[in-house]
Amino acid sequence: MASLSPQILQMKEERKKISFDVEEITNFVDGGPEESRLRREITAKIQNDPIAGDVDWFYKSGEEKFINAVKRSVRLKNMDMDIDMNSDTAMNAAFTACANSIGLPIHSGAFLPTVMNLGSPEQVEKWVPLALNFEIIGTYAQTELGHGTNLRGLETTATFLPDSQEFEIDCPKLTSMKWWPGDLGKCANHAVVMANLIINKQEYGMHPFIVQIRDLDTHQPLPGVRVGDIGRKFAFEVNDNGFLHMDHLRIPRENMLAGVAEVDSEGNYNLKSDPRLLYGGMMLIRVRLVDTQAIFPLQLACTIATRYSLMRKQGSIEPDEPEVSVLDYVAQQRKILPLIAQAYAFHFCARRTRLFYVDMMTEMRQGDFTNLPELHALTAGMKAYITEGCLEGTDICRRACGGHGYLEASGFPRIYLAQLASVTYEGENTVMYLQCARHLIKCASAASSGKTVKGFADYLNDDVKAKRSEKSQDELAHPVVLRECFRHRANRMVKYVHEKIQNLKATGKSHAEAWNLASVELVEMAKAHLDVYVISTFTKVIDEAKVSSRSRQVLFNLCSLWGLHILNRNIGSLLVDGYINAQQAEDMMEAELSCLSTVRQDALGLVDAFDFTDKTLQSCIGAYDGNVYERLYENAKRSPRNANEVHEGFYEIMKDSLRRGRDALRGMKSKL
Ligand SMILES: Cc1cc2nc3c(=O)[nH]c(=O)nc-3n(C[C@H](O)[C@H](O)[C@H](O)COP(=O)(O)OP(=O)(O)OC[C@H]3O[C@@H](n4cnc5c(N)ncnc54)[C@H](O)[C@@H]3O)c2cc1C
Repeated sequence: MASLSPQILQMKEERKKISFDVEEITNFVDGGPEESRLRREITAKIQNDPIAGDVDWFYKSGEEKFINAVKRSVRLKNMDMDIDMNSDTAMNAAFTACANSIGLPIHSGAFLPTVMNLGSPEQVEKWVPLALNFEIIGTYAQTELGHGTNLRGLETTATFLPDSQEFEIDCPKLTSMKWWPGDLGKCANHAVVMANLIINKQEYGMHPFIVQIRDLDTHQPLPGVRVGDIGRKFAFEVNDNGFLHMDHLRIPRENMLAGVAEVDSEGNYNLKSDPRLLYGGMMLIRVRLVDTQAIFPLQLACTIATRYSLMRKQGSIEPDEPEVSVLDYVAQQRKILPLIAQAYAFHFCARRTRLFYVDMMTEMRQGDFTNLPELHALTAGMKAYITEGCLEGTDICRRACGGHGYLEASGFPRIYLAQLASVTYEGENTVMYLQCARHLIKCASAASSGKTVKGFADYLNDDVKAKRSEKSQDELAHPVVLRECFRHRANRMVKYVHEKIQNLKATGKSHAEAWNLASVELVEMAKAHLDVYVISTFTKVIDEAKVSSRSRQVLFNLCSLWGLHILNRNIGSLLVDGYINAQQAEDMMEAELSCLSTVRQDALGLVDAFDFTDKTLQSCIGAYDGNVYERLYENAKRSPRNANEVHEGFYEIMKDSLRRGRDALRGMKSKL
């Protein structure tokens, strides 16, 4: 029998040191043992299927990835899962099982939900079954060549024609053509087009229209339609992001999505329900996006970086001592361990935000919109905060894996590149932070006029000036104390920016001008507010966790580490007003270092608890058994460049000079 490699043996030894029950934490993260069972069942069914489970990414061209992803999504639709696939657990499980490589994501993730949310019951009945069965393929076309963020700047029009009972969809300029929509370039034959509604020369703003863009028999573009792929991108080869130019294209009146507003045959514009409900669909996409496009990739990255860092031996701490795992270097621990804590923290936050969303939507459907600003601020802010934090985290993990982290075989290119666009789509992040900030400034204004602020910004009810922390080093590591630090910091920052805007206005600046001048601080204070949301959620999760005392302690350590790490990186924001003193700032760093050594012991268990299969990870350096070097070598042998011993192209170009070298060397030999 072949002996196990030293790396495999080392992983086995490391697993023996884990201080807690990994399965218990896995169940806790999943939301219970039944959810874990369901996730595993779905993962196994998908990954054992020859088509859906063919997720091998290495050495595939962009075109192969695109076609494989489409095949996979069609196969998923036709697989007999015998499971309700509509729950969040099931959807996330299918997504992770496919290693974030499912075709037609905008058809399923934006076209379908938009028709469901914004269509009338008749429209839902007509279009949704067709879309669910892939009998039509749709896209969501909002962004244009000239405008994305500023919706008022969008130029595509939908003009009502009473005589023919149609709308005429038109892109009057080059800049009005739709640009970026996913699945548009080559796949979609229908689009939800966002266009400025015009009735009798009066403009009603952006409304959604279902527009057929390709012939149903031949898949050729319809007359009046120019459609195609926008060209190669950073990554995202699995998607044919496209352009769409519509030249006086006619569509039936019934194709305006009429769940919220409709145009009747006389050309009257009728509001059918509160337009604020429109926000619901957009917010849901943001709520879901952070799970699959940000937190899942960060969890993968942490798993790879931790396992690799445990297995990788490089140098020793004491001269002449045996080599150590690179994870034994404290500098390496500080790169990876706070990110593990962050992956947990963000997971709990995303879950809480989803529940909050469901509650708020129920309230809104009953006509109560009181909490809409809070929900909007939270979903916009968290979209930016989580996608940014996870993207940065993934790259830190990559760098923590040295040279091998740069190989495709590490898994990082796939994980990082798929994540890269998440900071831009579904709301560019700076713009999202500013939307969150708008709500906070309104709360600060209410607080300054003596009103009580409710909700996640309730720290604004506290008096900033009266606050000083008296805590010692041990106390400073406690999550509840850290939460107080974060609350104080956000309170001070929001009030400072509110005051700054007031002062600018007092010097004669308009509100918009003052807003622009304060926008850098507005973004920073929004981040500080979201820090409060994260630490508050994490402490709440620990308080309510029904787990063993050991698992609770493990979660507690993670929460402390996350809080200390964020505050230490922003320590000036606590020192600036004397909330803590210089000694406490040093204590805080010491507390983080001590926390690192505690979490180090359990690092492997903490990433094992994410429970990814090797097929999901697709990483030669992050697989469960730790057999890094053999996997890397096997993968290198698969490189198409290694198909022949002599690379024809290279040899053709170089052979003359190489032969001259051969002759020269032979000549030198004979002289020696
Ligand atoms: C991979 C990918 C997939 C996409 N899929 C789709 C899709 O399916 N359907 C679709 O319709 N669109 C899609 N988009 C488009 C995407 O939604 C937009 O690109 C995004 O909303 C950003 O808008 P923008 O490109 O106009 O950026 P801009 O708004 O032009 O941003 C440029 C810069 O200006 C800054 N900025 C803009 N406005 C402000 C402001 N008010 N205050 C301060 N700073 C500001 C931004 O922060 C940014 O730094 C996709 C984009 C990508 C990259």
